[in-house]
Amino acid sequence: MIDLDIVKKSIRNIPDFPKPGIHFKDVSTSYQDGEIMNFISSAIHEHYKDLGITKVIGIESRGFILGGILADKLSAGFIPIRKPGKLPSEIYSQSYELEYGFDTLEIHRDALDSDDIVLIHDDLLATGGTIGAAIDLVRKFGVSKIYVNFFVQLDFLKGIEKIDPTVQTWSLIHF
Ligand code: AMP
Repeated sequence: MIDLDIVKKSIRNIPDFPKPGIHFKDVSTSYQDGEIMNFISSAIHEHYKDLGITKVIGIESRGFILGGILADKLSAGFIPIRKPGKLPSEIYSQSYELEYGFDTLEIHRDALDSDDIVLIHDDLLATGGTIGAAIDLVRKFGVSKIYVNFFVQLDFLKGIEKIDPTVQTWSLIHF
């Protein structure tokens, strides 16, 4: 039987990747086990199944993995938020600050409607810059409700404090 402790232990720790001082949480070791993967997607689906979600948004690229599965389980559409220059049609674009410099995320202008109930999913919350930009992008559509989900949340980096408290955020695993 899989439980949350087994899921937590399945996440591989890589010290000093991609640069010194970063402790990388490698979720690929969780996703490579069929039973664990099924437990994770079922547990997240259980949390959101009665909220009327019409669109799941996955953030490139690790947010696409569970994002796609959740969209299917919720019978919702899937929308990618991508890195610059990847989306072929008209886009909204949002830049955000990294530790050094800036990055940008993009979404298609016709991806959402104002009556959509949206679940934004990413694999991991660290400092909160990425999800902040994703929320800003989704807000441009005036959607009726935004939920945010992470597989893993790094509590010690306090990214949650950067997320607008009116946006309900829930993570399956905390470190
Ligand atoms: P942030 O914008 O700082 O919240 O970073 C979140 C994004 O960067 C997510 O898409 C993660 O995939 C990735 N990320 C940041 N820090 C880590 C980490 N320590 N381990 C794994 N992924 C990370």
